[in-house]
Formats: sequence, C-alpha cells, structure tokens
Amino acid sequence: MVRELTHYVAGGRTRGTSGRFGDVFDPCEGAVQAKVPLASRQEVEHAVALAVAAQPGWGATNPQRRARILLRFVDLVNKNLQELAELLSSEHGKTVADAKGDIQRGIEVVEFSAGAPHLLKGEFADAGGIDVHSVRQPLGVVTAITPFNFPAMIPLWKAGPALAAGNAFILKPSERNPSVPLRIAELLTQAGLPDGIFTVINGDKEAVDALLESPDVKAVGFVGSTPIAQAIYAKAAAHGKRAQCFGGAKNHMVIMPDADLEMAADALMGAGYGSAGERCMAISVAVPVGTDTADRLIAILQDRIKDLRVGHSMDAGADFGPVVSAAAKERIEGYIAAGTEAGAALVVDGRGLEVDGYPNGFWVGPTLFDHVKEDMSIYREEIFGPVLSVVRAADYDEALRLCSDHEFGNGAAIFTRDGDSARDFANRVEVGMVGVNVPIPVPIAYFTFGGWKASGFGDLNQHGPDAFRFYTRTKTVTTRWPSGIRQGAHFTMPEGS
Ligand code: NAD
Repeated sequence: MVRELTHYVAGGRTRGTSGRFGDVFDPCEGAVQAKVPLASRQEVEHAVALAVAAQPGWGATNPQRRARILLRFVDLVNKNLQELAELLSSEHGKTVADAKGDIQRGIEVVEFSAGAPHLLKGEFADAGGIDVHSVRQPLGVVTAITPFNFPAMIPLWKAGPALAAGNAFILKPSERNPSVPLRIAELLTQAGLPDGIFTVINGDKEAVDALLESPDVKAVGFVGSTPIAQAIYAKAAAHGKRAQCFGGAKNHMVIMPDADLEMAADALMGAGYGSAGERCMAISVAVPVGTDTADRLIAILQDRIKDLRVGHSMDAGADFGPVVSAAAKERIEGYIAAGTEAGAALVVDGRGLEVDGYPNGFWVGPTLFDHVKEDMSIYREEIFGPVLSVVRAADYDEALRLCSDHEFGNGAAIFTRDGDSARDFANRVEVGMVGVNVPIPVPIAYFTFGGWKASGFGDLNQHGPDAFRFYTRTKTVTTRWPSGIRQGAHFTMPEGS
C-alpha cells in the first residue's frame, strides 16, 4: 500500500491539491513506499499568507516563553526518538543508530536556541546625554530549503534559531524523505507552538520558486548541492531577500608520517563510509604524506574494509545502509567506472554488492581508489557515495596545497602528533571547518557551521550565534531627553563626539 503524505499548514496536516506527486522510496527494498504532494504556487502563496497573519503575535511573545515551547519540543523529540529514527531510516537508508545522531545534532541547536533571551540582547551605550541601544527583531516570515541527507538535523538547525527569534518559519524539505519534517511539525504543535508559525510545504522547483518570488518571505536558508545553492542564492538576492546557501563538498584528510595510523584509519573508515558517504562533512579524499605512510595506510584500510558490513538500515549490525535512490547508485557507479578509465588504481570495488533478502535495494559497497590525480573527475567532483580516493602527497606543503586549491572548501582534517604542523594547517588551509585528529569537524551547536568557496554562498554561517544574526535584523535607537537647554537648529552633520 503506497501512503499519501501531506503538507503541514496552520497547525495540521493538509492534503496536496496540485495533483502532482513525487515518489518516496524505501531504499533497502528499492520500492516506492509513499507519494509526496508537490505544492503548486497557489498552495505556497496560501501557506505564506497564513504565516504572515500568525507571525506578529509570535514575534511579540516574550522570548523566554518562546524558548520554553522549544524546550518542551526537545522533550517530546527525546520521548519519540526511536519512532523518529526508524521513520528517518526507512526513507533515507541510514542505520537507526546514525539516524539518532542526525536527530541529536539537530536537537542540540534547538537547545542552544532556547538561549534566545540572551542571544537577542542588543548593545547599549551612554554617549554623554544621548543613549544609544540596539535591538534584534525578527524578520517576519522566513524559509529553509533542505537536502535529503539530514532530514532532521538541517531543518532543526534552521528552525530552532528562526523560531526562537520570533519568525514564522516555512520548511521546504527534500521530497525524498519528508516524513520526519512532518512529524517535527506535529511535535512542535504538541509543544504549544501557535498555528501558522511552523509550516511544511512539500514540493519541487515550483514550490521553491514561489517561496523565492514571494515578497512576504524575507530570508532563505538553503542547504543542498552547489549548482542549486548558487542558483537559489542569485534568485533570492534578485528578489531582495537575505540568503545563505550551503553547497557540496570534497573534504580532505591529511595523514602525516608521524600520525597514529591505526587511529587515522579508524577515522577514515567512519568518515569515508559512514552513512554511505552521504554526508557533506564526509571525508572523500585521504592525503597520506610520503610513500611509506601511503603504503601502510592502504594496507590497513584494505584490511578494515573486509570487515565492514553493509546491510538493512534496521539491522543493528550494519555499518551503513543503501544509498538514497537508484539515480544516486547509478551516479556513484558511473564515477567508479570513470576513475578506473582515468587510470586510478581501484583497490576495492563496491559495485555489484548484494545484500541477502533485498535484491532491489540501492546498494553500493565501500570503494577505495589509490593513486588518484588532481585532474580526475573522481577527485574534482563530489561523488556523495561510499568512495574514498587516496591522493599521495610528497610532503606537507603539497598536502596543504591540495586541500586549499580544491574548488570546494567545506572541511579538512589533519592527523598528526606534531603541534606545529597542526597549528600551521589550521591557520592556512582554505576551508571553513578544520579538524585536528578529528575526522568530521562539525562544530558543536554554539559555534557556527559553514564552508568556504563553492561550499557556501552568503556571509553568515548556520547555527551558533550567526544563525541569530541571519534570522533577525538589528535596529539601533538613539535617544535624547530634553534637558531644558535649547541648542537651536543645526544644519551641519551632527558629530559623534
Ligand atoms: P539538492 O540540491 O538536489 O536538493 C536540495 C534541496 O533543493 C531539496 O529540497 C530540493 O527539493 C531542492 N531543489 C532541487 N533542485 C531544485 C531546483 N532546480 N530548484 C529549486 N529547488 C531545488 O541536494 P540533495 O541531493 O538533496 O542533497 C545533497 C547535497 O547537499 C550534497 O551536495 C551535499 O554536499 C549537500 N549538503 C551540504 C551541506 C552543507 O552544509 N554544506 C549539508 C548537507 C548536505
């Protein structure tokens, strides 16, 4: 039985009326499990109008009361964690344990956002007879357009700060796994969020265009692939909106000759193959420094890959599950073929993997390439699958240059025991997030997350204090009270001192 999913508007689930639907797959079975409605422009406009009507009351609510609702929501998510994680896994394909991590990293940002009363405080100066203070005010109705690979975490990264700051929030989640966003909406309502303040509009380009073109939508937070991020950034700016658009990645991990190679290999296994490589912070390029380091690393990785288990997302013994779609599987296998044709050494080939009982699942096994060169497509482009490329560097300078010269600048890591190399790497590498003996350096919730170059467009990051800057605008008030001394009219520019 194929279920029909809904939107979430004005505090309840509403059926789509456009007549258009997308397929939601079960990636382990390789079969359609639900139909998701794809909203028309009229449906989006209606949802925006309801959000516009609801926002002033929410914006005027004491920030501490808003925060309390978010904390009740956190509690509800924790109570329903197993159900949410299984729902997430069933549409995404990541393991249930990994899905819990997806939800947990989102919840941490909601907990941070509950500090809104402090985070929204402005500044004050007594400027000698004149008082100046600033306040942060909500923007009004804001939106986020989010990718398939973190169906809970990224919507919550956006919604937590936006709601805490007093905005009405419209989420356009990935059409590939919309069920957890819909459950998040229900739990927010259950926690006491007023109707119309959190809306889920499912859809594709038509819905996104309607949001971007609506004069009532004031800010757009996007996360997804680079070409779409770039296009949405340009369109949002053309329509006078504030936009932050995060794109794809090609994260490198440098392994210095002095590194603990066993520890580095463990890190590479998790960061390269966890979640089938479908993480924007996955390590897809390993850069061992020196031939001896490279040879030893490849030998350890080969050994570890033999023990790796790909299986059903509900199988507690599986290290990772299927990729998200048949198209993703085909794309990844195409890259493996291209890498071989270009002359890279295919050490482990993940194509043709079969998982007992699930003949139609979107399976791709762990794949390892050695002797990858800079001009190969498997190095230049984001594969977004369980494919790890080893690029051998002669020395530290070459390794640093590789990380910095790449088109993408999301994250990079260095594994070393030497503080000087670690410090130099952290200072000079041209990426937004750096790990030192940490393979997936996703910053904790109260710092900000964001890549450089083709990995991010816009000048503020997501979560942490930047999220509050993004979803609010600053107003500065200059005040003087009559002192009884008239100073007369001045026609020159008033000076600050
Ligand atoms: P995607 O770009 O295909 O889709 C992202 C969102 O954009 C979805 O909601 C989708 O419906 C919408 N969309 C797609 N095409 C559109 C179009 N033509 N016009 C308007 N909207 C459109 O990305 P995806 O496959 O869902 O996610 C994977 C990508 O996201 C990877 O490139 C990954 O690196 C990236 N990602 C980046 C970060 C980060 O913080 N930098 C985090 C997670 C994922």
